[in-house]
Amino acid sequence: MKIILLGAPGAGKGTQATRIAQKYGIVHISTGDIFRANIKGGTEIGKLAKSYMDAGELVPDSVTCEIVKDRLTWSDVKNGYLLDGFPRSQYQAEVLSGFADIDLCLNLEVDPSLIMDRICGRRVCSCGESYHVSTLNGSTTCAKCGKELTVRPDDNPQTVKTRLDTYEKNTAPLIDYYKAKGKLVTVVCGDKNPDEVFKAVCEVLDK
Ligand code: AMP
Repeated sequence: MKIILLGAPGAGKGTQATRIAQKYGIVHISTGDIFRANIKGGTEIGKLAKSYMDAGELVPDSVTCEIVKDRLTWSDVKNGYLLDGFPRSQYQAEVLSGFADIDLCLNLEVDPSLIMDRICGRRVCSCGESYHVSTLNGSTTCAKCGKELTVRPDDNPQTVKTRLDTYEKNTAPLIDYYKAKGKLVTVVCGDKNPDEVFKAVCEVLDK
């Protein structure tokens, strides 16, 4: 299975991607995670990506597409993969079609009024888990691995606004793009919790 996971910031792509990858035995490839790992490692890519990410803008296509193209040459993708956060524009989608044959684009449709609270209340762990502050009962550590939770630098109201604008302008048109190719399936998340969304996602993927 080669899947693209599409959805606005805060739609829960990362959470669903982790679960899908685990259940279906496919690799989760998140361009955002790749950039964050590069920032942490102090690489040239990280230095370049940081300014764009902090501003809520897209990292240039030349860098992003090259990273994904290279990542898809690794042997671990042979049983399939899930692209989380790529493509984010029609240009990226067209570049992707030059080196990958995608089976399905899974679009997570979230209620826009929930997005700001979801993202600004997000607490993340370096192990990949993420939480909402309202469910933590005051805890500041990860229930899975015990490490201290942090707030992503781009999870603040100002940057979220730019990320949402960037999504509307560049990424949302991909819904029609993949629909026209007969590859789009939309899961309406509304205010469903992650378990309910995952159930709906599995119903799609099991077909
Ligand atoms: P995410 O973790 O998917 O929310 O991505 C965080 C940030 O990384 C985005 O706001 C962008 O600045 C950058 N980024 C991630 N994926 C891409 C992409 N496909 N194209 C350009 N920038 C990206």
